[in-house]
Amino acid sequence: MVTIAVDGPSGSGKSSVSRAVAARLGLAYLDTGAMYRAATLWCVRTDVALDDADAVADAVRAMPLTSGLDPAAPTVSLDGTDVAAAIRTTEVSSTVSKVATNLEVRAELKRRQRAIIDDEATGGFSGGRGIVAEGRDITTVVAPDADARVLLTASEEARLRRRSLEVHGAADAAAVAATRDQVLRRDRDDSTVSQFLQASDGVVTIDSSELDLDQTVAAVLAVVEQ
Ligand code: C5P
Repeated sequence: MVTIAVDGPSGSGKSSVSRAVAARLGLAYLDTGAMYRAATLWCVRTDVALDDADAVADAVRAMPLTSGLDPAAPTVSLDGTDVAAAIRTTEVSSTVSKVATNLEVRAELKRRQRAIIDDEATGGFSGGRGIVAEGRDITTVVAPDADARVLLTASEEARLRRRSLEVHGAADAAAVAATRDQVLRRDRDDSTVSQFLQASDGVVTIDSSELDLDQTVAAVLAVVEQ
C-alpha cells in the first residue's frame, strides 16, 4: 500500500494533478481542502458564528461529513446530502480561512484525515492499495510518513491564470483581475495555515508554472517511482 501526500497553494493545480495520479495508480483520492470547506458550510448552516472559536470547534467535532474517495468522481456530503457545489461558493471561499486557522478544528480534521488514510491501508475504497491525499499540511502534519511527498508550487501569474479559468472559464485580463483580489486575500487569510506549506526534509518541490497537467502528473509519478 502506498500513501502519496501533495501540498500546494490555491491555483497550484494540486487537485487536478492529485486526482489524475490517483486514477493512474488505482488509488483513493482525498481532497482535504473540501473538508475545511464543508466544515465552514456546516457552521454557516447550523448558525454557528465563525468568530466563536469554541462553538466552531464543537460544531466541527459533531459534523456529519462523508468524503467519497473515487478520483473519477470525488464526493463530499453533509448529513447524506451532496454539497460539492455549495462548498465552492464565494461565501465559503472567502470565509474558510477563519475556520481553518482554528487549531481545534485542525486537530479534529487531522484525526479524520488520518483515519481515512489508515483505512485505505487495510481496505477502504482502494482495496488496500493506498491513497493520494492533498491539501496544505499533508506532507508536514497529517502524513509526514507518506511514501512520496510533493510540494506543488507555481508562479503567482500561473496560479491566477488557472484559478481564473476554474472560476470564470476564461483567463483574459479582465477575468484574471477579477480573480486576483480573491486569491491574494485568501493567501493572506491563510498565512497561519501557510506555515505548514514548506518543503520539509524529504519533500520534493515541483514548480508547475511552465508545465501542463500531463507533464506535472508525469513529474509526480517520477517522484513516486523513486
Ligand atoms: O484547497 P482549497 O483551496 O479547496 O482549500 C480551501 C481552504 O482550506 C484553504 O484556503 C485553507 O484555508 C484550508 N485548508 C487547510 N489545510 C488543508 C487544506 C485546506 O487549512 N490541508
